[in-house]
Amino acid sequence: MKYEIIIVGAGLAGATAARLLAEKGKKVLVIEQHKHIAGHCHDYKNEHGITVHTYGPHIFHTKNKKVWNFVNRFTEFHYYQHKVLSYAEGKLIPFPINRDTLKEVFGIEIGTHEVKEFLEKEVKKSKFNNPPKNFRDAVVSQVGERLYEMFFKNYTIKQWERDPEELSAEIAKRIPVRENRDDRYFSDQYQGIPKHGYTKMVENMLDHENISLLLGADYFEVNDLFESELTIYTGELDRFFDYKYGKLEYRSLELEFKTFDKEYYQPVATVNYPNDYDWTRITEFKHFLDEKSNKTTVCFEYPKAEGEPYYVVMTEDNMEKRKKYMEEVEKLEKTGKYIFVGRLAEYKYYNMDQVIEKSIERVEEYLK
Ligand code: UDP
Repeated sequence: MKYEIIIVGAGLAGATAARLLAEKGKKVLVIEQHKHIAGHCHDYKNEHGITVHTYGPHIFHTKNKKVWNFVNRFTEFHYYQHKVLSYAEGKLIPFPINRDTLKEVFGIEIGTHEVKEFLEKEVKKSKFNNPPKNFRDAVVSQVGERLYEMFFKNYTIKQWERDPEELSAEIAKRIPVRENRDDRYFSDQYQGIPKHGYTKMVENMLDHENISLLLGADYFEVNDLFESELTIYTGELDRFFDYKYGKLEYRSLELEFKTFDKEYYQPVATVNYPNDYDWTRITEFKHFLDEKSNKTTVCFEYPKAEGEPYYVVMTEDNMEKRKKYMEEVEKLEKTGKYIFVGRLAEYKYYNMDQVIEKSIERVEEYLK
């Protein structure tokens, strides 16, 4: 069968591209290996009326007005600013590090204008490579060893099963350090949770007369049946090339969902556990949409190597391999017949908004 465009994957990268191309009159077929749309931001309402994120917590945040306007075409957003506490030394402490974190950890009351100087003293007492070479350096150079060890070191070892010195300094950019009392996890101007869920948002994106959807089909098994002018691939990068340069590591999670017979389990949506227990964090879903129920559903995250590919692992060897694969991608993209986009296909630690931004950008380039 002939379609103008085949899109592999019905997650955010695929759905964004599908929608934009369909609106330009292109006939698009989306092939998705799971039996549902929305990729890893899939969610559903459980029997207690609580919207659960199937693959772990997803909070939408962006600085990009264009991306924000785009997603707002497909859903209303519930106003929500993500708050996280970190369980350390027996206490729930505001995280990421801000003025109130210092008060809890060091027992000091300092003004916002004094925080910088305080952290500089912490950094001065610490040993690290300057300029920073890895994740540990990147964090210690901002907050010093004491705070690094309390909040970052063991969480990172648990999450990645790697020495933080083997991991890219890039990862540290995800976590801000604040001098004021802003205790939000993200500082982006636009934040929220889709009022009727991510699945509904993606369903609305795909709801167009020019889009056909094939669920539960592995592209590599069915691609012989279809012809197209363009293939947009959003699946795993190494798989597309039959692992010719070796496997790229993707990190996964075992998610344990539990429902408790009480109204709330914890004071905020997410509590991180850097040093205690085997899980990295617990998320209580009802906080996201302020859902009311006399029960509550939470999710414990246990990092693991095998399973659904959630995270790229930013070590030197993976990045070297990525480079080789990306050279192959470049060759294919030059033919004008392929686009690789998204977290899995580009092997990049993208947030949801970055995936959408990239997908919009690639489609606009193509349409030119
Ligand atoms: N991190 C940490 N302590 C925390 C939270 C995060 O050390 O309490 C580090 C850890 O290496 C983690 C990375 O920062 O993998 C990125 O954290 P983020 O919360 O962005 O992870 P995600 O939500 O993508 O799982």
